[in-house]
Amino acid sequence: MSNPRLLLATEDTALARTLSWVLKENGYDVVTALGGPQLIERLEQDVYDLLVVDLANSDAGTLDRLARVREDVRHKDVPLFVITDAEFNLADLEPFGLTGSDAIQRPYQVRELLSRIKAHLRVGRELNRARSDARSRNELVSILKEITASLNSSEIYQILVRRVASGLRIARCSVVLAAPGAREGTVVAAFENPNLRDLRVDLTKYPEITRALQTGETVMVADVDADPLYQDVLMTWGAQQTGARRTKSVIALPFALAGRLSGVFFLRTTADDPPLNRLDLGFAEQVIEAAVTALEKSYDLEHGTGRGEQLRELADTDPLTGCANRRVLDQRLREELDRARRYTQVVTVVLFDVDDFKRVNDTYGHQAGDRVLKQLAFLLRHELRTMDFLARYGGEEFVVVLPETGGIGARLFTDRILRRVQLHNFGDSAFPVSVTVSAGLATFPDDRVADDESLMRLADENLYKAKRAGRNRYRD
Ligand code: GH3
Ligand code: MG
Ligand code: MG
Repeated sequence: MSNPRLLLATEDTALARTLSWVLKENGYDVVTALGGPQLIERLEQDVYDLLVVDLANSDAGTLDRLARVREDVRHKDVPLFVITDAEFNLADLEPFGLTGSDAIQRPYQVRELLSRIKAHLRVGRELNRARSDARSRNELVSILKEITASLNSSEIYQILVRRVASGLRIARCSVVLAAPGAREGTVVAAFENPNLRDLRVDLTKYPEITRALQTGETVMVADVDADPLYQDVLMTWGAQQTGARRTKSVIALPFALAGRLSGVFFLRTTADDPPLNRLDLGFAEQVIEAAVTALEKSYDLEHGTGRGEQLRELADTDPLTGCANRRVLDQRLREELDRARRYTQVVTVVLFDVDDFKRVNDTYGHQAGDRVLKQLAFLLRHELRTMDFLARYGGEEFVVVLPETGGIGARLFTDRILRRVQLHNFGDSAFPVSVTVSAGLATFPDDRVADDESLMRLADENLYKAKRAGRNRYRD
């Protein structure tokens, strides 16, 4: 077991130095806070087993601060040990809600101080554990009830992020599905954006997620600015993440489904929030543990299949490009068409096919061909809105689904893609490679379209027309 952690608060630097030395010699981990503001700062950063507060020369200001500390749920049950002057009366602490405290008066003997701290810590620890167990058990039971009452996995992910975000009072909490080593993941739920569905994210921007998936271990960073893990991404954040939106602390908690590492539970705070600490981690760990069982069951129910099948479900991406595969596309298309019918909305699909791709393979080799496909997927993904959807349809064919988009919007989108592809160098500066693509569009509603199959057939016919008309163009 680790050493008890003490926070020693005093305005007396000499006392801070000697007392922290004595305490460390006796097996405690000691953090010192010189003065009230530092005390608050330290308490926002971490939790402690005992607060040792020197009240000499202190006015009501320090007591007020302590009372405020107690209002914070994380420090509600931390035992308090006070060093006071002879005339101080312990009862004076009562109005500040500082019960559960012990005090020693000057002058005292170091040996007495140590034995009193030891005793107080033991009592405090047991009390603390009993209380926090009870609290998280209650909370967990209610979360578990909600989770097990829900039968589908996406609902469970939503419950997870909502309950953990509100339990820890943080604004950003999400579930990202990804396999170890993958460069991309899928955000299946995010508290900060409840409408989000299956957003693909580039994991190279999330070093904590990548590490958690690589090691299978929880990554917790109290201050991203001070952690070497973020050296590279901090530079790119510079422009994008500023002020209050900037990430300050993170927890990336990997979880396995059916014995395989499947994703990360991802908690973040910004500069305005108190940083995440070990208690938060404990809470998140318990919730996700409970959720995993429910999730495994729900995957079984949803697919009525064995474990192997579920896992393939989770990894329903094309390994070369990271795009969703055709099976997922079919499912998604049916959903979008249902939605469009129900809310009388439009939806457009764009089918892209690389022009003369056989020649690319023949000229530059199959591997270069693969690289073209990867880059094309990246380029397409870059142009998508959150609600759009990209899938690899076949060898060198990609489909983009554009919900709530009619012919005009889809033409603009396709035109932009064609131009980007034409201008893009798919090789490198020493060895440039150019390709073009053609596209076929199909929009629902349309007299010729009854379902997802006829929608795709129409897109395919239009693609064929674009090819016949000379390639590097679209038809609708
Ligand atoms: P066009 O579409 O302009 O009519 O001509 P094309 O040369 O692209 O013709 P087609 O669509 O018939 O050929 C597709 C080629 O793409 C055939 C196949 O060798 C190649 N291909 C399919 N999948 C992959 C892949 O994963 N990697 C690579 N490198 N090539 C692939
Ligand atoms: Mg083709
Ligand atoms: Mg082709």
